[in-house]
Amino acid sequence: MHKIIIIGAGFAGLQVAKGLTSSLFDLIIIDKHNYHLFQPLLYQVATAGLSPADIALPIRNILRSQKNLKVIMDELIGINPQLNQITTRNNTYFYDFLILATGSELSYFGHEQWKNFSYGLKNIEDATFLRGKILKAFEKAERIKNKKAIEKLMKFVIIGGGPTGVEMAGAIAELSKKVLTKEFATIDTKAAQIILFEAGANILPTASHSLSIYAKNSLEKLGVKVQCNTVVQNISESLVETNTETIEAETIIWCAGVKASPLKSWINVKTDKIGRVFVNEDLSIPTYSNIFVIGDASHVKDKNGKPLPGLAPVAKQEGSFVAEVIKRNILNYKSQNKFYYSNKGYFATIGRSEAFADFGRFTIKGRIGWIFWSVIHIYFLIGFRNRLMVFTNWVWSYLTFGKGARLITDHKIEKNSSIDI
Ligand SMILES: Cc1cc2nc3c(=O)[nH]c(=O)nc-3n(C[C@H](O)[C@H](O)[C@H](O)COP(=O)(O)OP(=O)(O)OC[C@H]3O[C@@H](n4cnc5c(N)ncnc54)[C@H](O)[C@@H]3O)c2cc1C
Repeated sequence: MHKIIIIGAGFAGLQVAKGLTSSLFDLIIIDKHNYHLFQPLLYQVATAGLSPADIALPIRNILRSQKNLKVIMDELIGINPQLNQITTRNNTYFYDFLILATGSELSYFGHEQWKNFSYGLKNIEDATFLRGKILKAFEKAERIKNKKAIEKLMKFVIIGGGPTGVEMAGAIAELSKKVLTKEFATIDTKAAQIILFEAGANILPTASHSLSIYAKNSLEKLGVKVQCNTVVQNISESLVETNTETIEAETIIWCAGVKASPLKSWINVKTDKIGRVFVNEDLSIPTYSNIFVIGDASHVKDKNGKPLPGLAPVAKQEGSFVAEVIKRNILNYKSQNKFYYSNKGYFATIGRSEAFADFGRFTIKGRIGWIFWSVIHIYFLIGFRNRLMVFTNWVWSYLTFGKGARLITDHKIEKNSSIDI
């Protein structure tokens, strides 16, 4: 039996496990969470469109039929590649092959203090916290009379014009300008200001220029103020300072950057500026051919020499490829020894009925783009229940403009301050 340890049951790690079903392999998959998370739909949890359980499924449940595999909930804290051994918080394990698929985390580009005043979106806790923060802002605005304080509460600043920032901005605009409008007696939720800052010249910089412009126009139609060429220079309590202005806002959302999980602290490897490990053509690391790094944690180049983006399809294809490499090593399977990414398109959505899919040679946008985006996302969600729930919620909110999961689960009621009243 060949011992294979996979760290991380995200898109990449799960794919490796699913590719190694033979009883010749003794698999252990270790994750610090007990669930696999479909991160592309996290923003819908943060904006009350979906519930957390709609986009996450227990890892055990996903892999229940794989008899050669054990799921362990634990956290990797060390690797000893000379001994082929890893250490977790609770145990040590030996391996023949080790796959590191630990993903990425939020990056504040060296301004770690900014995370105290802005909210990122990376996991379920972030999404439910953000959902509470957004909904509580409207609740508090309804309770108070001070116009300036109400304006600050109903101002949402989103930093970063990549897909997450664009999707967040569109969803908050829709929530405030279409969903909540008839539910408050005092405030006019349509007056909410949603501002999207992007440091570059265009939002969605990896999409084609015409799609960036299309996305900007769609957001502006929804009432989002899109400000490109705007560099954030400081974030403090309810305050964002940019190269052009200083804005006071109760909710500041950070969608500007990620860095790879800290693999360098576990193993001596070379990484790029954002911590992604430089790997060989077969995705193994230079000094140890039995250790692979895949998904958001690795730096792999496309055929033009550019690093592949941190996307779910990239992680999945790398996972399947590594499973094949291991089979080739052990079972003498014939397979390619160089990883090539096959680009299946680039998608983003803006609100409930606009989206686009960029396939390089052609694009689909508008309502048809949205239907296409929805079908693709539902198809890739794991588990029949999740697919059904998401589909039902989407159809319901599409027809009624309702948002299904508008719950504030943190019951702490802040006291109004004297200026608020
Ligand atoms: C808000 C958001 C929106 C996104 N939208 C899109 C989109 O629309 N389209 C798209 O293609 N991609 C999107 N992405 C990117 C996509 O989700 C990632 O590229 C993909 O998840 C990477 O897969 P992975 O397996 O490398 O990492 P992940 O899916 O992040 O999985 C990593 C796993 O490793 C575990 N782990 C980490 N460290 C340890 C440790 N020390 N010990 C044990 N377990 C550990 C984690 O718990 C996690 O389960 C989005 C990401 C985010 C955050």
